[in-house]
Amino acid sequence: WAELSVANLLQESNIEALVLHFNNVTERVVKEKQQEDFIHMATHELKSPVTVLKGYLQLLIHKMSIDKSLYFDFLQMLYKMDGQLNKLLGLITDMLESTHIKAGELNYHFALFNLTNCVRDCVEGIKTANPQHQFKCELIDDETILIEGDKDRIGQVIINFLTNAIKYSPDKFEVQISMEKQANEVKVSVKDFGIGIPKEKQQAVFDRFYRVDTLPKNTFMGLGLGLYIAAEIILKHHGKIGVESDEGQGSEFWFSLPLLG
Ligand code: ADP
Repeated sequence: WAELSVANLLQESNIEALVLHFNNVTERVVKEKQQEDFIHMATHELKSPVTVLKGYLQLLIHKMSIDKSLYFDFLQMLYKMDGQLNKLLGLITDMLESTHIKAGELNYHFALFNLTNCVRDCVEGIKTANPQHQFKCELIDDETILIEGDKDRIGQVIINFLTNAIKYSPDKFEVQISMEKQANEVKVSVKDFGIGIPKEKQQAVFDRFYRVDTLPKNTFMGLGLGLYIAAEIILKHHGKIGVESDEGQGSEFWFSLPLLG
Protein backbone atom coordinates (compact mmCIF):
# COMPACT_ATOMS: atom_id res chain seq x y z
CA TRP A 1 0.00 0.00 0.00
CA ALA A 2 2.80 2.37 1.01
CA GLU A 3 4.68 1.67 -2.25
CA LEU A 4 1.54 2.17 -4.29
CA SER A 5 0.73 5.54 -2.74
CA VAL A 6 4.40 6.64 -3.11
CA ALA A 7 4.26 5.64 -6.80
CA ASN A 8 1.07 7.66 -7.24
CA LEU A 9 2.57 10.67 -5.52
CA LEU A 10 5.72 10.39 -7.68
CA GLN A 11 3.62 10.20 -10.80
CA GLU A 12 1.72 13.28 -9.73
CA SER A 13 5.05 14.99 -8.82
CA ASN A 14 3.41 15.93 -5.53
CA ILE A 15 6.65 16.69 -3.66
CA GLU A 16 5.01 18.21 -0.58
CA ALA A 17 2.79 15.20 -0.02
CA LEU A 18 5.76 12.92 -0.68
CA VAL A 19 7.89 14.63 1.99
CA LEU A 20 4.96 14.47 4.43
CA HIS A 21 4.53 10.80 3.64
CA PHE A 22 8.22 10.04 4.32
CA ASN A 23 8.10 12.08 7.54
CA ASN A 24 5.13 10.06 8.74
CA VAL A 25 6.84 6.78 7.90
CA THR A 26 10.07 7.86 9.68
CA GLU A 27 8.09 8.96 12.74
CA ARG A 28 6.27 5.62 12.81
CA VAL A 29 9.50 3.63 12.46
CA VAL A 30 11.16 5.63 15.31
CA LYS A 31 8.07 5.12 17.53
CA GLU A 32 7.99 1.39 16.77
CA LYS A 33 11.71 1.13 17.58
CA GLN A 34 11.17 2.98 20.89
CA GLN A 35 8.24 0.71 21.77
CA GLU A 36 10.27 -2.36 20.80
CA ASP A 37 13.22 -1.18 22.97
CA PHE A 38 10.87 -0.55 25.88
CA ILE A 39 9.19 -3.95 25.65
CA HIS A 40 12.62 -5.56 25.51
CA MET A 41 13.82 -3.64 28.57
CA ALA A 42 10.57 -4.13 30.53
CA THR A 43 10.43 -7.88 29.93
CA HIS A 44 14.10 -8.17 30.84
CA GLU A 45 13.59 -6.25 34.09
CA LEU A 46 10.43 -8.15 35.00
CA LYS A 47 12.05 -11.47 34.19
CA SER A 48 14.91 -11.21 36.70
CA PRO A 49 12.85 -11.01 39.94
CA VAL A 50 10.50 -13.72 38.63
CA THR A 51 13.46 -16.00 37.86
CA VAL A 52 14.96 -15.42 41.32
CA LEU A 53 11.54 -16.12 42.92
CA LYS A 54 11.27 -19.35 40.97
CA GLY A 55 14.75 -20.35 42.18
CA TYR A 56 13.82 -19.81 45.85
CA LEU A 57 10.59 -21.74 45.38
CA GLN A 58 12.40 -24.68 43.84
CA LEU A 59 14.93 -24.63 46.69
CA LEU A 60 12.09 -24.56 49.25
CA ILE A 61 10.39 -27.53 47.60
CA HIS A 62 13.69 -29.43 47.46
CA LYS A 63 14.58 -28.70 51.12
CA MET A 64 11.09 -29.53 52.36
CA SER A 65 11.27 -32.89 50.66
CA ILE A 66 14.57 -33.86 52.38
CA ASP A 67 14.44 -32.22 55.81
CA LYS A 68 11.24 -31.12 57.49
CA SER A 69 12.92 -29.33 60.45
CA LEU A 70 14.74 -26.48 58.64
CA TYR A 71 12.29 -23.72 59.48
CA PHE A 72 14.98 -21.04 59.82
CA ASP A 73 16.22 -21.62 56.26
CA PHE A 74 12.67 -21.60 54.96
CA LEU A 75 11.94 -18.34 56.68
CA GLN A 76 15.05 -16.73 55.16
CA MET A 77 13.89 -17.81 51.72
CA LEU A 78 10.40 -16.49 52.32
CA TYR A 79 11.92 -13.10 53.24
CA LYS A 80 13.96 -13.15 50.02
CA MET A 81 10.88 -14.06 48.01
CA ASP A 82 9.03 -11.20 49.65
CA GLY A 83 11.87 -8.83 48.68
CA GLN A 84 11.74 -9.97 45.04
CA LEU A 85 7.95 -9.64 44.99
CA ASN A 86 8.29 -6.07 46.30
CA LYS A 87 10.70 -5.27 43.44
CA LEU A 88 8.32 -6.79 40.93
CA LEU A 89 5.39 -4.86 42.35
CA GLY A 90 7.45 -1.65 42.30
CA LEU A 91 8.26 -2.12 38.59
CA ILE A 92 4.66 -2.89 37.70
CA THR A 93 3.37 0.08 39.72
CA ASP A 94 5.88 2.45 38.02
CA MET A 95 4.83 1.19 34.58
CA LEU A 96 1.16 1.66 35.42
CA GLU A 97 1.69 5.11 36.92
CA SER A 98 3.68 6.28 33.91
CA THR A 99 0.73 5.37 31.68
CA HIS A 100 -1.57 7.26 34.10
CA ILE A 101 0.69 10.35 33.84
CA LYS A 102 0.54 10.15 30.04
CA ALA A 103 -3.26 10.03 30.25
CA GLY A 104 -3.28 12.84 32.86
CA GLU A 105 -4.88 10.49 35.38
CA LEU A 106 -2.39 10.17 38.24
CA ASN A 107 -4.54 10.51 41.36
CA TYR A 108 -3.76 12.85 44.28
CA HIS A 109 -5.32 13.41 47.70
CA PHE A 110 -4.35 16.88 48.90
CA ALA A 111 -4.37 17.77 52.61
CA LEU A 112 -2.19 19.61 55.14
CA PHE A 113 0.78 17.66 56.48
CA ASN A 114 4.08 18.17 58.29
CA LEU A 115 6.95 17.55 55.88
CA THR A 116 9.50 16.71 58.61
CA ASN A 117 7.36 13.81 59.83
CA CYS A 118 6.94 12.60 56.26
CA VAL A 119 10.73 12.63 55.63
CA ARG A 120 11.39 10.93 58.98
CA ASP A 121 8.84 8.16 58.31
CA CYS A 122 10.37 7.46 54.88
CA VAL A 123 13.92 7.26 56.29
CA GLU A 124 12.77 4.95 59.11
CA GLY A 125 11.08 2.62 56.59
CA ILE A 126 14.15 2.45 54.34
CA LYS A 127 16.48 2.04 57.35
CA THR A 128 14.80 -1.18 58.45
CA ALA A 129 15.21 -2.72 55.01
CA ASN A 130 18.87 -1.57 54.70
CA PRO A 131 20.53 -2.12 58.09
CA GLN A 132 24.06 -1.99 56.59
CA HIS A 133 23.57 1.66 55.55
CA GLN A 134 24.08 4.79 57.62
CA PHE A 135 21.43 7.46 57.23
CA LYS A 136 22.50 10.87 58.52
CA CYS A 137 19.55 13.19 58.92
CA GLU A 138 19.55 16.94 59.41
CA LEU A 139 15.84 17.69 59.52
CA ILE A 140 13.96 20.80 60.62
CA ASP A 141 12.04 20.04 63.77
CA ASP A 142 9.53 22.79 63.46
CA GLU A 143 5.75 22.45 63.60
CA THR A 144 5.43 25.13 60.94
CA ILE A 145 6.85 23.01 58.09
CA LEU A 146 3.32 22.56 56.85
CA ILE A 147 2.71 21.60 53.26
CA GLU A 148 -0.50 21.38 51.38
CA GLY A 149 -0.18 18.30 49.24
CA ASP A 150 -0.41 14.55 48.94
CA LYS A 151 1.70 13.10 51.78
CA ASP A 152 1.93 9.64 50.17
CA ARG A 153 3.01 11.04 46.80
CA ILE A 154 5.70 13.25 48.41
CA GLY A 155 6.78 10.16 50.39
CA GLN A 156 7.02 8.30 47.07
CA VAL A 157 9.49 10.96 45.81
CA ILE A 158 11.62 10.74 48.99
CA ILE A 159 11.65 6.93 48.84
CA ASN A 160 12.66 7.05 45.19
CA PHE A 161 15.61 9.34 46.06
CA LEU A 162 16.61 7.10 48.99
CA THR A 163 16.39 3.80 47.08
CA ASN A 164 18.36 5.28 44.16
CA ALA A 165 20.99 6.61 46.59
CA ILE A 166 21.43 3.05 47.89
CA LYS A 167 21.16 1.34 44.49
CA TYR A 168 23.67 3.57 42.72
CA SER A 169 26.27 3.48 45.54
CA PRO A 170 27.33 -0.18 45.46
CA ASP A 171 30.34 0.26 47.77
CA LYS A 172 29.39 3.35 49.78
CA PHE A 173 27.05 3.02 52.70
CA GLU A 174 26.39 6.60 53.81
CA VAL A 175 23.33 8.58 52.77
CA GLN A 176 22.74 12.14 53.98
CA ILE A 177 19.24 13.57 54.21
CA SER A 178 18.74 17.26 54.86
CA MET A 179 15.99 19.86 55.02
CA GLU A 180 16.47 23.56 54.57
CA LYS A 181 13.99 26.40 54.95
CA GLN A 182 14.41 29.18 52.39
CA ALA A 183 12.31 32.37 52.06
CA ASN A 184 8.92 30.86 51.23
CA GLU A 185 9.88 27.32 50.39
CA VAL A 186 11.42 24.24 51.95
CA LYS A 187 14.08 22.09 50.30
CA VAL A 188 14.67 18.37 50.91
CA SER A 189 17.94 16.78 49.69
CA VAL A 190 19.25 13.23 49.56
CA LYS A 191 22.99 12.93 49.04
CA ASP A 192 24.99 9.80 48.24
CA PHE A 193 28.66 9.05 47.57
CA GLY A 194 28.13 6.56 44.77
CA ILE A 195 28.76 6.36 41.04
CA GLY A 196 27.42 9.85 40.22
CA ILE A 197 26.04 11.03 36.87
CA PRO A 198 28.00 12.60 33.98
CA LYS A 199 27.17 16.33 33.68
CA GLU A 200 25.66 16.09 30.17
CA LYS A 201 23.21 13.37 31.29
CA GLN A 202 21.93 14.98 34.47
CA GLN A 203 18.86 16.74 33.09
CA ALA A 204 17.74 13.67 31.11
CA VAL A 205 17.38 11.49 34.24
CA PHE A 206 13.92 13.03 34.75
CA ASP A 207 12.74 11.90 31.28
CA ARG A 208 10.43 8.94 30.78
CA PHE A 209 12.38 5.64 30.47
CA TYR A 210 15.76 7.41 30.58
CA ARG A 211 18.63 5.45 32.10
CA VAL A 212 22.25 6.58 32.03
CA ASP A 213 23.75 4.48 29.25
CA THR A 214 27.32 4.57 30.53
CA LEU A 215 26.33 2.13 33.28
CA PRO A 216 27.48 -1.45 32.77
CA LYS A 217 24.51 -3.36 31.33
CA ASN A 218 22.40 -5.39 33.79
CA THR A 219 24.24 -4.06 36.88
CA PHE A 220 21.46 -1.90 38.24
CA MET A 221 17.84 -2.92 37.90
CA GLY A 222 15.26 -0.36 36.80
CA LEU A 223 13.08 1.02 34.04
CA GLY A 224 13.94 4.71 34.19
CA LEU A 225 10.51 5.70 35.49
CA GLY A 226 11.01 6.60 39.17
CA LEU A 227 12.44 10.10 38.61
CA TYR A 228 10.00 10.81 35.78
CA ILE A 229 7.13 10.08 38.20
CA ALA A 230 8.89 12.09 40.95
CA ALA A 231 9.21 15.13 38.65
CA GLU A 232 5.53 14.89 37.75
CA ILE A 233 4.52 14.74 41.43
CA ILE A 234 6.67 17.77 42.36
CA LEU A 235 5.31 19.71 39.38
CA LYS A 236 1.75 19.02 40.60
CA HIS A 237 2.77 20.53 43.97
CA HIS A 238 4.16 23.69 42.25
CA GLY A 239 7.64 22.76 43.42
CA LYS A 240 11.05 22.29 41.83
CA ILE A 241 13.22 19.19 41.45
CA GLY A 242 16.88 18.81 40.51
CA VAL A 243 20.21 17.07 40.87
CA GLU A 244 23.82 18.02 41.44
CA SER A 245 26.30 15.29 40.75
CA ASP A 246 29.94 14.50 40.03
CA GLU A 247 30.74 11.32 38.16
CA GLY A 248 32.48 8.85 40.47
CA GLN A 249 31.88 11.09 43.52
CA GLY A 250 28.14 10.91 44.19
CA SER A 251 24.85 12.68 43.63
CA GLU A 252 22.53 15.00 45.51
CA PHE A 253 18.88 14.86 44.46
CA TRP A 254 16.61 17.57 45.83
CA PHE A 255 13.12 18.99 45.61
CA SER A 256 11.60 22.14 47.02
CA LEU A 257 7.98 22.90 47.85
CA PRO A 258 6.21 26.18 48.60
CA LEU A 259 5.51 26.77 52.30
CA LEU A 260 2.05 27.83 53.37
CA GLY A 261 1.94 31.61 53.51
P1 ADP B 1 15.71 3.56 37.53
O1 ADP B 1 16.63 3.72 38.71
O2 ADP B 1 14.61 2.60 37.78
O3 ADP B 1 16.46 3.30 36.26
P2 ADP B 1 15.02 6.39 37.86
O4 ADP B 1 14.04 7.19 37.05
O5 ADP B 1 14.81 6.37 39.32
O6 ADP B 1 14.95 4.94 37.23
O7 ADP B 1 16.46 6.94 37.53
C1 ADP B 1 16.81 7.23 36.18
C2 ADP B 1 18.31 7.06 35.97
O8 ADP B 1 19.02 8.08 36.68
C3 ADP B 1 18.86 5.75 36.51
O9 ADP B 1 18.74 4.70 35.58
C4 ADP B 1 20.33 6.11 36.78
O10 ADP B 1 21.05 6.03 35.57
C5 ADP B 1 20.24 7.59 37.18
N1 ADP B 1 20.25 7.78 38.66
C6 ADP B 1 19.19 7.99 39.45
N2 ADP B 1 19.55 8.17 40.73
C7 ADP B 1 20.90 8.07 40.76
C8 ADP B 1 21.89 8.18 41.79
N3 ADP B 1 21.57 8.43 43.07
N4 ADP B 1 23.20 8.03 41.43
C9 ADP B 1 23.54 7.80 40.13
N5 ADP B 1 22.66 7.68 39.12
C10 ADP B 1 21.35 7.82 39.42
